[in-house]
Amino acid sequence: MTKKIVHKVVHKESPETHMMGLGYNPWWSEGAVKPPLFLTSTFMFKTAEDGEEFFAIALGKKKAKKVPGLIYSRLNNPELEILETRLAVWEEAGDAAVFASGMAAISTVVLAHCKPGDSIAYTIPIYGGTSHFFTEILKEFGIRVIPIDATAPVTALRAVRDPKLKMIFVETPSNPTLTMTDIEAVNKERRALEKKFKRNIVFCVDNTLLGPVFQKPVQLGADLSIYSATKFIGGHSDLIAGAVVGDKELMAPVKGYRSFLGTMSAPFTSWLMLRSLETLKVRMTTQAQNAAIVAAYLAKNKEIEKIYYPGFFAKGSEQAKILQKQCTGDGSLISFEVKGGKARAFKLLNAVKLCRLAVSLGGTETLIEHPKTMTHSEIEPEQQEHSGITDGLIRLSVGLEDPQDVIADLERAIRASTKKR
Ligand SMILES: *Cc1c(COP(=O)(O)O)cnc(C)c1O
Repeated sequence: MTKKIVHKVVHKESPETHMMGLGYNPWWSEGAVKPPLFLTSTFMFKTAEDGEEFFAIALGKKKAKKVPGLIYSRLNNPELEILETRLAVWEEAGDAAVFASGMAAISTVVLAHCKPGDSIAYTIPIYGGTSHFFTEILKEFGIRVIPIDATAPVTALRAVRDPKLKMIFVETPSNPTLTMTDIEAVNKERRALEKKFKRNIVFCVDNTLLGPVFQKPVQLGADLSIYSATKFIGGHSDLIAGAVVGDKELMAPVKGYRSFLGTMSAPFTSWLMLRSLETLKVRMTTQAQNAAIVAAYLAKNKEIEKIYYPGFFAKGSEQAKILQKQCTGDGSLISFEVKGGKARAFKLLNAVKLCRLAVSLGGTETLIEHPKTMTHSEIEPEQQEHSGITDGLIRLSVGLEDPQDVIADLERAIRASTKKR
């Protein structure tokens, strides 16, 4: 077993400061303050020798002395490189890679690190797309998956007997019930399992829901922090993208696979994300403040049976302790159960006017949906039941509107849902 080195890059200024300029020199582009959009598939070499050298570096046959030159936009592109430099800063990670979607990021990470015969332990509940990829697609490639309960991951991991365990994949907080998994505790158990099975185990965290502003898994011991950048990083519900940040050595095969699977993000999407990153902290902070106001309203409404929101974890509970230890905010997702099951939930969803009835989350506008029949409909009924994905459950992603307007919309929709017809 080789000893793992976590490459940390510590920056003097705060991440939000670096979002305005890191990784870009205006004098590359006529003094343009903002990076131009490099819509080009291929790059010219000054000499044939340069072309030969850039290829040798890209294929790992030669070590780069300085920043290697650009070749072709499937391998590298200025937009992607600037964006990756900035993304890594949030978790002080050694490297970052951007992808065409969150699922492209997840599938590339798994294929780069797991081979036929290996197995992956993953927390449930988990995002529906990840669940489908794990349970339906990976089995066709001979990769076994072991579901573990997000509320008791350490006990579940300790019970894993498979010596071919190659990856631990945690989504925290989980979607849609916002269950917290203790990243440091899982990392400790990972190290114990590495000793027991005498092999490296890659530890990934899907950090879409709170990261990178409120949670930084790489700093807590995870190897790779994975994002659906479609959500908060993009933040405007106008693009699909993914990202992975983490340990430089473990990122190398991920970037290698990305080049050959062709799962990289496109230049224009990356340019949009560069723009989004400048407002990431203000957006996430304000959305979280708005969510706290909306959650307080929902908690007081008698038609709401149950509410899932980190700010409401019982004082002194295990979940509250994890939240306090590893997160710096409650985020802007709220799930709640209305009395009266699916019929009531659907009436409410059909009555909202300001909140958009749509899946996805983390956009500037408030989004509302029904996990059981929409985002989490692929999950087996028993597992839905176990995870609290019930008929009456509604998921809300609070945006940047005046929270009082969101409350007024919900109030009206809740009232409309109590009507007979
Ligand atoms: C949306 C989402 C994904 C998938 O990302 P895409 O960008 O839709 O491919 C993965 N994990 C979580 C937690 C998500 O919310």
